[in-house]
Amino acid sequence: MHWVAVAALSDNYIWLVADDEGQAFVVDPGEAAPVEAALRERGWQLRAILLTHHHNDHIGGVSDLVRDHDVEVYATADPRIQPKNHFVEDGDVITLEAPRATFKVMAVPGHTRTHVAYFGEGFLFCGDTLFSIGCGRLFEGTPEQMLASLDTFADLPPETLVCCAHEYTASNIRFALTVDPDNHALRLRRDEVARLREEGRPSVPSRLADEYAANPFLRVDSEAVARWAQAQGEAHATRTERFAALRRAKDSFSA
Ligand code: ZN
Ligand code: FE
Repeated sequence: MHWVAVAALSDNYIWLVADDEGQAFVVDPGEAAPVEAALRERGWQLRAILLTHHHNDHIGGVSDLVRDHDVEVYATADPRIQPKNHFVEDGDVITLEAPRATFKVMAVPGHTRTHVAYFGEGFLFCGDTLFSIGCGRLFEGTPEQMLASLDTFADLPPETLVCCAHEYTASNIRFALTVDPDNHALRLRRDEVARLREEGRPSVPSRLADEYAANPFLRVDSEAVARWAQAQGEAHATRTERFAALRRAKDSFSA
């Protein structure tokens, strides 16, 4: 499979993936124009669209793409997501005809109530649930729900490519360093991201194992996060409380 992170809107990435014949699918096209340009440039043909959640920066380009291409659209039953012609839910295994690809659908509520992720072919398309060195804001869900959603990623292969929907990595790293300043993997990631961004390249995808080594939101059970929670006056916090405290601190963090 060939893939590219198509930059869209202010800081979105639309993942565009194709087989050797140029049969392609996109994930969360918040805008049609950059997808059209990326397809034209490569001579690829759009055949399917996967959607993770209803926010407009993820679905804004769908109606234009549906009008101009012969595509199948996969999404949850949430009526806020239109148009679509395949309904997905937790545990479904979907197989695209072209490009030939199979994905497991994972319900990951937290950012929104009906958010899903797609895992398959070595990719995790996680929308606004997991970011590199961060996680999504809790617009419709509780910390319990978001933590449970992130926990479902723990069983995926370590080399899985985390394909998130935003370029938030540098600011996520600035926050993460306030939580876990001595984390070697996190410091390496900081240097790598600084270099990539300087070269004008996306900081993502990352490998899932590297997220587990450096992303504080995946490390609520670590010594470092426990120490940080203690310093926040949450010495006896449960893992959910530590997660909630991290999310709250990130919400009010200005780098
Ligand atoms: Zn969103
Ligand atoms: Fe978003």
